[in-house]
Amino acid sequence: IQSNEFLLAVEGLTVSFDGFKAVDDLSFYLDPNEIRVIIGPNGAGKTTVLDLICGKTRASGGSIRFKGRELTKMREHQIVHAGVGRKFQNPSVFEDLSVFENLEVSYPRGHTVMGALAFKRDSAVEEAIEEVAETIFLSEMLNEPAASLSHGQKQWLEIGMLLIQKPELLMLDEPVAGMSVAERKKTAELLKVITTRHTVLVIEHDMQFVENIADRVTVMHQGKVISEGSIEHVKADPKVVEVYLGH
Ligand code: ADP
Repeated sequence: IQSNEFLLAVEGLTVSFDGFKAVDDLSFYLDPNEIRVIIGPNGAGKTTVLDLICGKTRASGGSIRFKGRELTKMREHQIVHAGVGRKFQNPSVFEDLSVFENLEVSYPRGHTVMGALAFKRDSAVEEAIEEVAETIFLSEMLNEPAASLSHGQKQWLEIGMLLIQKPELLMLDEPVAGMSVAERKKTAELLKVITTRHTVLVIEHDMQFVENIADRVTVMHQGKVISEGSIEHVKADPKVVEVYLGH
């Protein structure tokens, strides 16, 4: 198989911290427009995998090809530019700015908050903001300060701040952490809607949510993939039950 047929091809990825292999000869492949969920016990190396893909951590071995381009040699901003967006676990929105302004400063053109705000608003930007606001259920909140949003709404806003940059691959670290049941349901809807245009790679512990969203699941343990496939497949895999689901 040619790895450039995949949107993302991770092969033999390895990184050690003080001799400890946090990610150990890891390989997995993403098809365009799928939702893949990485699950596994704490310390399995899940967050480190996202750190490696977005360039925050340097691999000591292996390759990460995105649309055929090697990411392991690129800097973080080049990886963003190539079309990879990453959301961290805790929302980091600009609390004093409105929802509209948070999306506006994230629109891919300005390099600083002030520079982007000084930029003349045009209808293409406004349309893009309104479209994203609708996707993230915040159309009615556009003029409210981000500080007035619930924790869950801030998580959505941050997803919106990524969506407006149109990344082909969107990586989310525990997107429903701290959310209410209703917000979790809406987040599952949101992720399904955006896969018409984006591919989504998610780390998640909430198995109910995983069952709702995942096309395929990759199970990690001790830096390696121990099982992969449909949710039904991995849930029935004795190795997965032993290290993760059984307790
Ligand atoms: P998970 O996300 O599956 O809980 P992590 O990727 O956060 O796992 O961590 C995997 C292992 O690598 C853990 O043992 C963690 O302590 C270690 N680790 C992660 N990042 C670093 C780092 N920057 N320096 C040293 N050890 C790290």
